[in-house]
Amino acid sequence: MLLQITTTHQPATDLGYVLHKHPDKFQSVEFSMGKAHIFYPEVSEEKTSICLLLDIDPINMVRSGRNNDSNNFVLAHYVNDRPYVASSFLSVALAKTFSTAMNGKCKDKPELVDTKMPFEVSISVVSAPSGGENLIRNLFLPLGYTVSLERQTLDNKFPEWGESKYYKLKLQHTLTTKELLSHLYVLIPTLDNDKHYFVSSNEIEKLLQKGEGWLKDHPKKEQIAKRYLVNLNSLTRQALERLSEGEAVNNAKDEDDFLEKTEVEKRKETLHDVRIKLVAEKIAALAAENVLDLGCGEGKLIRQLLKQKQIKKIVGMDVSYGDLLKAKERLHYDQMSPKQKERIQLIQGSLTYKDKRFEGFEVATLVEVIEHLDPNRLKALERVVFEFAQPKTVILTTPNKEYNVMWEKLAADQLRHTDHRFEWTRKEFADWTQQICENYKYEVSLLPIGEEIENIGGPSQMAIFTYGN
Ligand code: SAH
Repeated sequence: MLLQITTTHQPATDLGYVLHKHPDKFQSVEFSMGKAHIFYPEVSEEKTSICLLLDIDPINMVRSGRNNDSNNFVLAHYVNDRPYVASSFLSVALAKTFSTAMNGKCKDKPELVDTKMPFEVSISVVSAPSGGENLIRNLFLPLGYTVSLERQTLDNKFPEWGESKYYKLKLQHTLTTKELLSHLYVLIPTLDNDKHYFVSSNEIEKLLQKGEGWLKDHPKKEQIAKRYLVNLNSLTRQALERLSEGEAVNNAKDEDDFLEKTEVEKRKETLHDVRIKLVAEKIAALAAENVLDLGCGEGKLIRQLLKQKQIKKIVGMDVSYGDLLKAKERLHYDQMSPKQKERIQLIQGSLTYKDKRFEGFEVATLVEVIEHLDPNRLKALERVVFEFAQPKTVILTTPNKEYNVMWEKLAADQLRHTDHRFEWTRKEFADWTQQICENYKYEVSLLPIGEEIENIGGPSQMAIFTYGN
């Protein structure tokens, strides 16, 4: 990951003073995930450039990194974009290497602190997964930057694979060094929408401190706070309330109101409550002592299951690190008693890879999960769940496609959620469950979820598989 800052301020060598880094020295700073190297590729009175090169060790990151705050929060992220994309690592490195400048101090030439300099910043790879170019422009343009972007193709050898979610970013503006660094500190992780460390309320302090003097008036402050705080709603709301000095934010009554939701999603949510309640009831009826929630998402089912005293162990698994973080927040994991903490484990994994951690459970649940997988990955899921993990009972739910006609806002053939890869009719679901019983020695019973309509069925459908009868 490479960040280059260039100035044509006269004399341009002042950059060395204001950043507190001598142009003749190549310096390296160690931090937990790797090293930051600082060097000047160009030094003259007319034009001076400094580079910050981050050398991140992804393996070390897994060993020593983001899961340290809890033994139960196991993550394995060996293959990822962290080494090359500008992310929260860059913020940590900026704060560490340029702390004097970020705090607005300059021992040798104090007048430089308030001097506005013409800067050009170039960042080799920034990520903008949702929102793309617009998002990047909306973050930097209101602060007065000139923005130029170049989208990276996935692989030059295979143009048919299309473009990636990564951009090369160039920014130009005349401002103080402290302003520049604080903008980068906040907005780079905002683009990345992830953090390499566990996000707690300390993050609000960092956001407000680095955002001082500009964030309050930024037209996208809500989006910035939300993304900077990795979509954790309670933290976002606190941050925005403090930014607007106590003004109620959006008149949000509760967390869910705060999320932007479409009509369909709102209805789905109430249906979702019904669904989660039904799954929890089925588990209570089985008097299960341990449950594996596959694709647990934000932990809605886990929250219900915690109320069942007979359950000693609940393991929530999801492929999405962000969802696991949200689950942890929504379950108030950090505030739980040690005894309660022992009952829960959140793990990152995938339903399409055989995993020893999935074995030995009385019940496994897959609530609204299978439709998120590409159909050609379903076979792998079947083997992982029914052949290898082989819980005594599997409770699985999925939408009933026939019911979609009941939702006016849904166009014909539109799926309920942008991330759904398919939705099944009752017959398609029944056929799929039947072949599972034949292949893996399970028996199944099917039932509707939500109010049934003649010839259409319920809005959602459930299968309860029992092993070896
Ligand atoms: N069961 C939760 C979430 C449903 S959304 C609930 O009912 O509220 C679907 C979830 O499946 C998402 O959290 C998504 O990250 C997860 N998921 C999708 N593909 C997955 C895979 N291959 N392995 C594990 N989880 C997966």
